[in-house]
Amino acid sequence: MNFSPVNSQQPAPALETALEKHFGFNQFRPGQREVVERLLNGESAVAIFPTGAGKSLCYQLPALLLPHLTLVVSPLLALMKDQIDFLQSRGIAAARLDSSLSRTDYDAILNQARQGQLKILMISVERFRNERFRAQLMRLKLSLLVVDEAHCISEWGHNFRPEYLKLPQYRQEFALPQVLLLTATATPEVRQDMCQKFAIPAQNVTLTGFYRPNLNLQVTPLAEDKKIAHLQARLLATPQAPTIVYVTLQKTAEWVAAELSQAGLPARAYHAGLESSEREQIQNAFLAGECPCVVATIAFGMGIDKADIRRVIHYDLPKSIENYSQEIGRAGRDGKESRCEVLVNRQRVSVLENFVYGDTPSLVSLQGLLNEIKGHPEPLWEVKLRSLSQAFDIRELPLKTLLVYLDLRGILSPKYTRFDDYSLKFNRPVEAIMDQFQGERRDFVAAIFDAAETKRVWSRIPIDKVQANYDRADRQRVIVALDYFAEKGWIELETKQAVEVFEISDQSFDPKHLARELAAVFADKEITEVARIAQILALFESPSCLSARLAAYFGENISQNCGHCSVCLTGAAEIPPFEALAPLTAEKLTELCLGLPEKLGPHDSLGLRCKMLCGISTPLGTRLKLKQLPAFGALEQYPFAEVRAALRPFFAN
Ligand code: ADP
Ligand code: MG
Repeated sequence: MNFSPVNSQQPAPALETALEKHFGFNQFRPGQREVVERLLNGESAVAIFPTGAGKSLCYQLPALLLPHLTLVVSPLLALMKDQIDFLQSRGIAAARLDSSLSRTDYDAILNQARQGQLKILMISVERFRNERFRAQLMRLKLSLLVVDEAHCISEWGHNFRPEYLKLPQYRQEFALPQVLLLTATATPEVRQDMCQKFAIPAQNVTLTGFYRPNLNLQVTPLAEDKKIAHLQARLLATPQAPTIVYVTLQKTAEWVAAELSQAGLPARAYHAGLESSEREQIQNAFLAGECPCVVATIAFGMGIDKADIRRVIHYDLPKSIENYSQEIGRAGRDGKESRCEVLVNRQRVSVLENFVYGDTPSLVSLQGLLNEIKGHPEPLWEVKLRSLSQAFDIRELPLKTLLVYLDLRGILSPKYTRFDDYSLKFNRPVEAIMDQFQGERRDFVAAIFDAAETKRVWSRIPIDKVQANYDRADRQRVIVALDYFAEKGWIELETKQAVEVFEISDQSFDPKHLARELAAVFADKEITEVARIAQILALFESPSCLSARLAAYFGENISQNCGHCSVCLTGAAEIPPFEALAPLTAEKLTELCLGLPEKLGPHDSLGLRCKMLCGISTPLGTRLKLKQLPAFGALEQYPFAEVRAALRPFFAN
């Protein structure tokens, strides 16, 4: 492994010239040159640079100089628009295949790729499962596979993405000779894991420093009810300074933003519960400096490029050290001094932990799903993730993880994704389209449009209804027809409601045994994730320099204390202990559980009751409308393990 800057003594003006010519930059930033050279040398590479340090350039320049297409996989595809705009503005042929593209645009992009006109194609990892795309990819010549946010491939990292586990296999399948992995946050374990999965030698890792001298890290221990006043005072000092306040829950974002606004500090709440148009508007106002403060759940800030953020304040405890590091990394990109403050107590630790517990599927759920697969009478298994998630009460993310585990065990393999829902928008009147056809074909086309369920602009085409009304309309024929109309530009076509089609290749497993094995894997994950929360508390209680400790977590040793974090300035933080809560007596639990057996019926279980009392929603809980019960979340302040232990005697017999 190498720490940059590297000893790039040799004059290689060719690369600098290319950098200037294509991107208008007059020099490489630390680490970039080493990675670029390695790729141009035919090797694979890993670049671990902090957010904003310029990781994208590490593939953008090689993509222009390598002979064939560069494929970029990103979990943040929706946020890549700026990058595409940037590349296109520099005359670089780049495109993104996302689910909002019409068939026509999609085809145009793949045509370009086939003719060798495209240099960079950005996709989501799910795209690799799309049957049509796979067939097309097979015919393309590829030079480089780039994995952005590559820590997602490691189960030891934060934000693990199950589909990423398949990437090494895709690389083989589509004969991608070289790989570049990009991430801002990888601990030494995660780094090793990433390299091993793609067979990249350790010396091909380029790491630039995590330590940012202009960020003043500060830990402020504060009781829950003192936080808002502290925050207001902090912002009042310089109300115009661009600030992000991070919170855990959507409702906290709303509440804090309202409190700040009332105190004369204009602030907007930003979270996943808002319409995307509103989110975009808030983001733009923030970028333009019209709204100095955004109170956000972690969804905010990814992919935004604002250099003068002066404050990042964690109102709630961050989820992990990786998240913390990424979030504070958004401050002070311009190199000017910026404050990164966390307000810490132990009061809401349980709420954070509950996010983790909610992701662990129960043994009953695992067994149910495995029984379903084992008993499935045909080799093809078609599922809608949402329905499956509800049927077996497994949240979508762990469900996807589970399906990948089964894939890696040779039990099933994803074949393709098809769509149950086709919607279209007319670009010309229906009659004009009908007039293009005669005889039987005209009747067939009429049957399609007759079945259309039209809302304001879009009409849904229920294919089964078309078939029911017209017996010569098989599914394939309808889809081909719709595609044809779209190709002609008569309509715009959209597909929704993905149905995942799997092939079941092995039904010889023992569901009971395998369920126990998988439950153990998920239990391990649960332990790792809960430990992350303990780790972050330990960081904030660090008796030694915070900057040094943070850097060390990511494998970088800074030789001296920073001299400007709160530990260096005023000493270690003492986080007040968890305030003791009233003990969980049998009476109290009995009272809370009153009526639950009837409400939960056959689903009643220790796991579900604990989740309910701790305010953890699950797909089944949502279906049973458990949130409406007064007992929902009644014990959310209590550690989950404590609730589980206290409830267990109720299920003893
Ligand atoms: P990261 O992915 O590491 O968070 P980006 O690749 O998005 O960072 O780059 C951040 C910004 O730095 C972008 O605006 C990019 O154009 C700019 N940048 C990258 N490399 C250079 C360079 N060598 N000189 C000047 N600006 C650069
Ligand atoms: Mg990036």
